[in-house]
Amino acid sequence: MTNATERREKLVELFREVQRCTRCPLSATRTQPVFGAGNANADLMFVGEAPGAQEDLQGVPFVGRAGNLLNELLAENGLARDDVFIANVLKSRPPDNRDPQPEEIDACKPFLYRQVELIEPTVICTLGNFATKLLTRSNAGITRVHGEPQVHQLGGRTVQIFPIFHPAAGLRTPSVKEKLREDFKKLPALLAAGPPPQEQPATFAPASQVEALSETAEQLGLLD
Ligand code: URA
Repeated sequence: MTNATERREKLVELFREVQRCTRCPLSATRTQPVFGAGNANADLMFVGEAPGAQEDLQGVPFVGRAGNLLNELLAENGLARDDVFIANVLKSRPPDNRDPQPEEIDACKPFLYRQVELIEPTVICTLGNFATKLLTRSNAGITRVHGEPQVHQLGGRTVQIFPIFHPAAGLRTPSVKEKLREDFKKLPALLAAGPPPQEQPATFAPASQVEALSETAEQLGLLD
């Protein structure tokens, strides 16, 4: 558990690291990286795909049309941007908003994992396929998994991952927007439920392991 001051300082350090990052070629084409924004002590974190044109210019996530829809959905559910932390899988804009490439995701994902580790959210709402597949470590697509929370180990803790459609997909297709709205309504209850039970570190090695260990020790001649 990180205290608020320490968390802030470490996030500022990470922000500076992201600002000077050149781990992938997107650093040459971006205007600036988009670190993420919001409440560093939030229980709820959103993870999108990558900055678009507006985000690249302003350095802030979800400030374009998809961001307006996200703000609307937050407000409908009694939440504001100041209550949550919003980040993306990629911190730099892919040219022409093309899909993130596997090498870019690999280069950038340690920043997202570190954000999760520092912010310690209870619920991580993944927006669309890229964030969902990365954080659930699965190839199951958003159409199949949206609206159902999944318990995962992430950033050293047990968290609920709640996959929903990307707001940009909602803007393109009215039926997707409806599903997004329905799924979003589940967020307050999920947050109110608090963190899932945390996995306890094992205090004693299970009997089977103890046996296996002594066998090995015996074989090595460590026991008399
Ligand atoms: N789409 C995203 O996935 N992220 C943003 O920040 C903006 C649009």
